[in-house]
Amino acid sequence: MRIYGLAAPFPKMNPGHITILGAGIAGLSTSFHLGHGNCSIFERDPVHGGHAGSENFFGFTVDRGPHVSFTKNAYVKELFAKNVNRDFLEFPVRTRNLYQGTWIEHPAQAHLWQIPQPLRNICADEMIHAAGSPSAETPRNYRHWLELSYGKTFASNFPAAYTRKYWTTDPVNLSVDWLGPRMPKLDVKELQAGLVPETYQNLHYITSIRYPKSGGYQSFFDAFSHNADIHLAKQISSIDLVDRNLWFADGSRHQFDRLVSTIPLPDFVNRCVQVTDEVRQAAADLDCSQLLIVDIFAPHLQELPGHWFYVYDEDKWATRIHCIERLAPGNTPDGWTGVQVEVYFSKHKPYPGNPSTIAKQVAGEMVEMGFISGDDFAAGRCKFGWRWAPYANVIFTHPRRGALEKIWNWLERYGLLRRSDDLDATTDWTREPEPEGLITMAGRFAEWKYHWTDDCTLRGRQIALADKLAI
Ligand SMILES: Cc1cc2nc3c(=O)[nH]c(=O)nc-3n(C[C@H](O)[C@H](O)[C@H](O)COP(=O)(O)OP(=O)(O)OC[C@H]3O[C@@H](n4cnc5c(N)ncnc54)[C@H](O)[C@@H]3O)c2cc1C
Repeated sequence: MRIYGLAAPFPKMNPGHITILGAGIAGLSTSFHLGHGNCSIFERDPVHGGHAGSENFFGFTVDRGPHVSFTKNAYVKELFAKNVNRDFLEFPVRTRNLYQGTWIEHPAQAHLWQIPQPLRNICADEMIHAAGSPSAETPRNYRHWLELSYGKTFASNFPAAYTRKYWTTDPVNLSVDWLGPRMPKLDVKELQAGLVPETYQNLHYITSIRYPKSGGYQSFFDAFSHNADIHLAKQISSIDLVDRNLWFADGSRHQFDRLVSTIPLPDFVNRCVQVTDEVRQAAADLDCSQLLIVDIFAPHLQELPGHWFYVYDEDKWATRIHCIERLAPGNTPDGWTGVQVEVYFSKHKPYPGNPSTIAKQVAGEMVEMGFISGDDFAAGRCKFGWRWAPYANVIFTHPRRGALEKIWNWLERYGLLRRSDDLDATTDWTREPEPEGLITMAGRFAEWKYHWTDDCTLRGRQIALADKLAI
């Protein structure tokens, strides 16, 4: 039995009822895997789906953030397939990088022949040396890891530049515990093969993807919401962890027994009546990027080959570009292209707050890069939209683990049970589920992990399995 280090005893509760904060994929999956009956979900937005949700916008199907399913987890694959009655597309993907006006196949490490000279030879020499005589040094930070793995020149021109765009900070400020298979390390043979003109080596960790035929990415998990008790437009404004009350922005109140939070951890902590200055500071030390997604639709077909594109140039807003009709042709009306562009900000790169100006500049970049016809743009035949995501990617800066340690230890007093991997950037789903407490965190922003939608789905299942309640 667990003894909570709290002076006041918990009020009498019905241990069966579970209150879930947030109706994104993690909250919906938790309710679904618990069989819905004992769950109520409270969601701030007027719709469910969260960051992976989809919308109809001017007759185009767009995801709130561009999403594809590349999970290797057999359970999630089958569940997503069932959720769309097997009506999904599955295809190999090709991605490209823009570097100073030159398109390079992704990953650039495997296509050195496309790097302009004299940079190519310097990168190749250093990279082949690094691959041939791997360093025994332990990397101090991500920049050091990049330099040990690829040599200084490639590291600084490619991944370090992209890190400043995507993660909004220099790689020296990042740890390496989140890397997993994301950054390929090639052997000498593969590097040499990549120097031969016209070579194409698909060595990205995502080689093939699935996407619903209709309805956008949300179709893969929308079935989780069927029969769920979801209360929309209920923004949690305050949480009393002792009296076990939630207050909403509309002034209403809800008493909870067990709580599963999927809302961003800093927001959760700052809404708790019991929060201390030390814990508030720990929450402020958690770094996350913010995302401006610019949607541009043009009345012509896409000519650039590829499913999505990475932009290394630091003088451009665009960081990653998806073509939505390449994911599912039904996402756009016939003859139209839809381009979704990700532009990142954070406390390291503050958002200037003028989205329509940025969206116009991004559209200009899309014309320059060849995604959008200059004539259609000039004649006003393109449609625009933008959306703001205040939480996008957890940034793995060095204080993350220490800050989490403080927050988890503090929440333990109120019923959270620490898990053996709760400081790790990712979760190993092959491990046995551990017991869950009266307060449970689930999902990317609540656990502060590098979770994809499959991880969020599996976290919901893990919570149910821990209770032996899983459907
Ligand atoms: C740009 C981008 C691209 C991505 N691409 C992929 C991909 O291709 N494939 C993939 O598998 N994953 C992808 N991901 C990751 C994926 O989006 C996340 O893992 C997933 O959506 C997180 O779901 P969640 O339920 O944890 O959080 P969320 O979806 O954020 O859900 C939390 C919910 O809580 C609600 N909420 C917040 N505050 C409050 C409050 N105060 N009161 C009440 N409700 C509140 C929110 O409105 C939201 O609905 C991507 C992420 C980003 C940023």
